[in-house]
Amino acid sequence: MQKNLLALFRILKKSYGSQHWWPANTPFEVAVGAILTQNTSWANVERAIDLLKKAKLLSPKKMFRAPSRILLRCLRPAGFFNIKAKRLKNFLDFLFVEYGGSLKRLFAQPTANLRQKLLNVNGIGPETADSIILYAAEKPIFVVDAYTKRIFSRIGSIRETDSYDQVQGYFMRSLPGKTALFNEFHALIVEHAKRFCRVKPICDPCPLRLHCRFAKHLSTKEQVISTTRLLFGGEEKSRLA
Ligand code: SF4
Repeated sequence: MQKNLLALFRILKKSYGSQHWWPANTPFEVAVGAILTQNTSWANVERAIDLLKKAKLLSPKKMFRAPSRILLRCLRPAGFFNIKAKRLKNFLDFLFVEYGGSLKRLFAQPTANLRQKLLNVNGIGPETADSIILYAAEKPIFVVDAYTKRIFSRIGSIRETDSYDQVQGYFMRSLPGKTALFNEFHALIVEHAKRFCRVKPICDPCPLRLHCRFAKHLSTKEQVISTTRLLFGGEEKSRLA
């Protein structure tokens, strides 16, 4: 089902306002956050970033030279901290070997080259690479995550089984290639998934319900359950069913 993505974007923006992403002070902090956020909540990433700030390690040079035990101690709250320390080290090795530790030099190349370079770093996948490109390098690329797939497959724009590249291609073909738009749209998608389009969706009060194939197929009883879930929490379903 073809959808007007810009119209959906405008509804989300009107509903939730500007999201001011990415929550970081420097491009390096964005890159570190993008690597740490794999398989963990943002709250855990923030705790790790705070510790990195306190240890004064949030610059490429300082983190590159930091003793492993101190880095590991800071990364502990982010979960899988041994793996994530290795991924950060892989990224820093690449940054120093190929670009003398300069993110500015790394980000100066064309988006397709930059993406391929990042994907070649062990531990950096498409979502992490694209987050770094969009939010740290500020180049126009659409970030796809599990929330994007969940929401837009329910709406009817894509299939749940579509690959990362297929979903990204759909968004990039359908939208003007503007960094600010891609930045805000991805942030709004995350917000929407948290508020309404959860694993168990809350469709009745959802601002996108009139455009959503999934919502159109809901029965009245399911809509009541969905609204009650919003008001009272997930356990209400068993009382009503
Ligand atoms: S109507 Fe329901 S399924 Fe559709 S986007 Fe909203 S919460 Fe998700």
